[in-house]
Amino acid sequence: MAAELPRIVQVGDPVLREPAADVTVEELATPEFQALVRTMVAVMRAAPGVGLAAPQLGVSKRVFVMEDPPEFVAKLSEVERTERGRVPVPLRTIVNPVLRPVGDAKVGFFEGCLSLAGYVGFVERWAEVEVTGLDETGAPVSVRLSGWPARILQHETDHLAGTLYVDRMVTRSFSTAETAKVRFGGRPVAEIRRALGLD
Ligand code: ZN
Repeated sequence: MAAELPRIVQVGDPVLREPAADVTVEELATPEFQALVRTMVAVMRAAPGVGLAAPQLGVSKRVFVMEDPPEFVAKLSEVERTERGRVPVPLRTIVNPVLRPVGDAKVGFFEGCLSLAGYVGFVERWAEVEVTGLDETGAPVSVRLSGWPARILQHETDHLAGTLYVDRMVTRSFSTAETAKVRFGGRPVAEIRRALGLD
């Protein structure tokens, strides 16, 4: 049997507000760091979620994992998939990420966080971003993504700077996930924006 998984740290814990430390190349190769990455993947999958940053396990290091499997994407309505640009993302580990926007277009959608369980907020984010860093083997990686995968990259990179989506959301959009689902599930974003008084 697998060992019991650690709990996901919830909002209010100071570790979620600390800027995390860069991971050195020597540290990256250690069994402890490799075990941390494996645990992060297991916790993300068990949650289930599409991304997890090390501070969410109480470890203030600059690493996150992301994965958006086809079966998650298949649960959305056609309009949700298309508008969000939500496409499956294979498992990735990114260490010491540096993010830059590509272009100046922004898009807004509801998003949630495993560290604010049960809530969502409407957040405007860059439509396309590039992230450079290292993978779990220490090899340089550069990923340029748009749509929902770009949102995941921004959300997870934010965690490593001690930033949560509630810092960026339209504050009056803050909602329980359940209420947002009942009000807006499957609805086009133009309708959501109107309902929130944004347009
Ligand atoms: Zn989060």
